[in-house]
Amino acid sequence: LRSFGYQVYFPENHGALIGARRLGADYIPEAVRQGFSPDICSYLTADIGAFLIGETPLGRYGLDEVPRPEVLVYNTSQCREVKEWLSFYANRFDVPLLGIETPRDIDATTDGLKGYLIGQYMDLIRKLSEIRETPFDMDRYRETVASSARTCALWQEILDYGRDDAPALSFFDHILLMAPAVVLRGDPAAETFYETLRDELATQRGSAEHPQIRAFWEGMPVWGKVRFLADLCTELGIRIVASTYCHSWAFDFSGDDPLEATARAYADVFITRSQAVKRRYLARMITTFRIDTVLYHDAKTCPYNTNTRFALPADVEEETGVPYLIFYGDLVDMRHFSEEELRLRLEAFVENLQ
Ligand code: SF4
Repeated sequence: LRSFGYQVYFPENHGALIGARRLGADYIPEAVRQGFSPDICSYLTADIGAFLIGETPLGRYGLDEVPRPEVLVYNTSQCREVKEWLSFYANRFDVPLLGIETPRDIDATTDGLKGYLIGQYMDLIRKLSEIRETPFDMDRYRETVASSARTCALWQEILDYGRDDAPALSFFDHILLMAPAVVLRGDPAAETFYETLRDELATQRGSAEHPQIRAFWEGMPVWGKVRFLADLCTELGIRIVASTYCHSWAFDFSGDDPLEATARAYADVFITRSQAVKRRYLARMITTFRIDTVLYHDAKTCPYNTNTRFALPADVEEETGVPYLIFYGDLVDMRHFSEEELRLRLEAFVENLQ
């Protein structure tokens, strides 16, 4: 999309912003009134609810309303919701809806799978070319993917500081600092941001306090409780040094063929993978980051990024010997999260660990 000259806007990030501003309860009921279930993605229901009411927290950044699209593009690699979500806007704005249908539960990114996806990307490119009335520029695309690759490599480098004995950043910093890797891949501004951050961090290595417990976060952030969770972890001596969520944005775009790299990168991401691949990945992360415990967030409205329901935590514990805690919450809908309950459970859990 960037190589075609589009400015790209992501509704998921609007959902996260609504969550972080704790506005979910204001907007979700409006989407529910229009027939959306309160059990589906609360990014979706919060975002569509805000749209129906005609409000947005983007006002603080100079935008009175969400941008009007010329075209809507989805990739089902993460979930079905994105397609349904953009279908809503395609009808409202009367604009084309295009997409990549990526299978889920992927064990291996085979040549057959990549061929299937590359075919869809070529079809997408042909349709965008018609809508944009401009030919596809392979050189520009190659450079855009190369820029994405540099951004992701820098982001990976920053996440790798989590291997330090006393990492300066935790998961709660990562979920904020990852924004350019999420919404600006392919834009050189993201590279500049991470170069600056990496250089700043390099000067601070070794100055943070040593954590008593090195934890790993699995699952979605709880956007409405970032401060509470960060403070609680600090109080209990827990530092969350790595996570599947933040590491998912360090895509691997290596290789000479940018189309192949794109198809592979978005099929390889953690959320699309089979349980066996996820188990191996988590075991590797536990070793790499010297993890003492894994905290699994069971997010009520995101089954796709919740990995607690088919015995994965128990399997990973059996393989690694590292204990885990599952807690219940949500990304935006804070009716599913209890501060008191989590505090009590985490305190008891930490006591048992020591
Ligand atoms: S992966 Fe989960 S949080 Fe993300 S859009 Fe899909 S349902 Fe929502």
